[in-house]
Amino acid sequence: MLLGALETGGTKMVCALGNEKGEVFERESYPTRDPGSTFADVISFFQGRGIEALGVSCFGPVDLNEDSPTYGYITNTPKPGWSHVSVRGRLMEALGVPVGFDTDVNGAALGEAEMGAGKGLGSLVYYTIGTGLGGGFYYRGTLLHGLVHPEMGHMLMRPHPKDPAPHGFCPFHDGCLEGMACGKAMQQRWGVPAHELPPDHIAWEIEAEYLAQMCANTTVILSPERIVLGGGVMHQEHLFPMVRKRTLELLNNYVSHPAILEHIDTYIVPPGLGNNSGAVGSLLLAVRALG
Ligand code: ZN
Repeated sequence: MLLGALETGGTKMVCALGNEKGEVFERESYPTRDPGSTFADVISFFQGRGIEALGVSCFGPVDLNEDSPTYGYITNTPKPGWSHVSVRGRLMEALGVPVGFDTDVNGAALGEAEMGAGKGLGSLVYYTIGTGLGGGFYYRGTLLHGLVHPEMGHMLMRPHPKDPAPHGFCPFHDGCLEGMACGKAMQQRWGVPAHELPPDHIAWEIEAEYLAQMCANTTVILSPERIVLGGGVMHQEHLFPMVRKRTLELLNNYVSHPAILEHIDTYIVPPGLGNNSGAVGSLLLAVRALG
């Protein structure tokens, strides 16, 4: 079965062809510009290729309420020109196939839960720590939406005492996770891109503190069986042991399960699908759209 996968991001659109097993055959990226010209690229990639359905993992905030007249829209985004833009409806109309739709991080969580690092488990939280920062929760086949959808990237943080920018850089919140710990925040704080900071720089201790607070908060609120940390910042692999160690310290034996106390290395993990979590998850959203 040939399926389409689309990851819409703030900087690029990644289009892929694949199948229900999560195998990706072909992939192409287009820069995200204004909606009109960006969708023209996306539609021309998929048109005439014979896909049976399309799955879209979309940057947000988005409307996921199937009863809403704006279901499948991007709602109030700070990204210029992209507020109140129909994504799902526009693609359904242009391509004439069912379109599955969810947030970018829920899409990646689905891919990781069913075909990646969470295979065989019933629950998983996926975070991407990249240009932005967000998380999705998968529980026994369901992606958590709730009132709107989770905005885990905007949970509030306790500042690290040595943080020279203890309020962070989110335009909405004083000291939220994304504003403190996404790649863009690291660059704003230290004046250079995160990947140029040497491994012994204090930046990493501070970054690990925020990601550990995130993991500890996630553990006590959602109790997932595994936490997957993806995105460009996590390509700095020395962060994983730092985050695990600090998460244990913050939890302070309160959640006394061996999966955490004895196996923290398999509790907080990199993506099992590498950089393919979003593409595979989008293919699975396409499968779900077929019912
Ligand atoms: Zn925020």
